[in-house]
Amino acid sequence: MQLREETLLRPESRTDRPLAAVAFDMDDTLCDFAGSEAAARKAMAWRLATEFGLDPDLLHETYEAIDQRRLAHGASGWWTRTGALAHRTENWRLTLQRFGVEDPELPLILAREHEAIRRRHLYLFPEALPVLRALHGQLPLVLITNGPADNQRSQAELLGLTAFFDHILVEGELGYGKPDPRVFRLAEERVGAPPEAWLMVGDNLRADVAGALAAGWRSVWVNRRGAARPADLAPHFVVESLHEVPAIVHHLRGAARSA
Ligand SMILES: [Mg+2]
Repeated sequence: MQLREETLLRPESRTDRPLAAVAFDMDDTLCDFAGSEAAARKAMAWRLATEFGLDPDLLHETYEAIDQRRLAHGASGWWTRTGALAHRTENWRLTLQRFGVEDPELPLILAREHEAIRRRHLYLFPEALPVLRALHGQLPLVLITNGPADNQRSQAELLGLTAFFDHILVEGELGYGKPDPRVFRLAEERVGAPPEAWLMVGDNLRADVAGALAAGWRSVWVNRRGAARPADLAPHFVVESLHEVPAIVHHLRGAARSA
């Protein structure tokens, strides 16, 4: 499989180290986290609208605004430290409060229901498993995921991802996550491969791409929505899906062999 010209943003140097390990981000790289969260919020808004005789769109908008405000006001990694359940419990408490609904127990019940619905609507992108199958056994694979400890590892298990990865690094368990260089150093230690031998595959420009580049890794930016490429950040590769990742891996290993 040939790489398309627009995929390869940086020409490989003949002195580049051979690729020895690949790290994947999980949410919105391997699975449609954003889609599952949107589906859960919508389902919850409609369920509550029916129960309390409220406007579902207004409920939905109110929850969105509260969530955005709380995430924006929290320091980096705040949602991870708080945990998904506590974060959504407070979101639902504040949302209901806006509509005059005060119930000390309901927000926690809603937060649990929210997560249950989200998981029912969580899907791997169609190419994720074929790509992981193609790479599994060829070189070490590491899952590096940001997010709360109460969410990420069980979600990886639910999706059937754990068997493909030699190591799984979860921000909420470690106390630090991408783009913190410590998580990249930890992956290097676990696998025993130097920074130049790594490829990071992820959708998030700040956490995955900038984090990997700062750590001295090569990076693939998974740009599923056709976002504009930032002027100040140059991933080595950009792809619209994971389909091309095996070809990129092959390319990097082949380039090293022929150097
Ligand atoms: Mg992501």
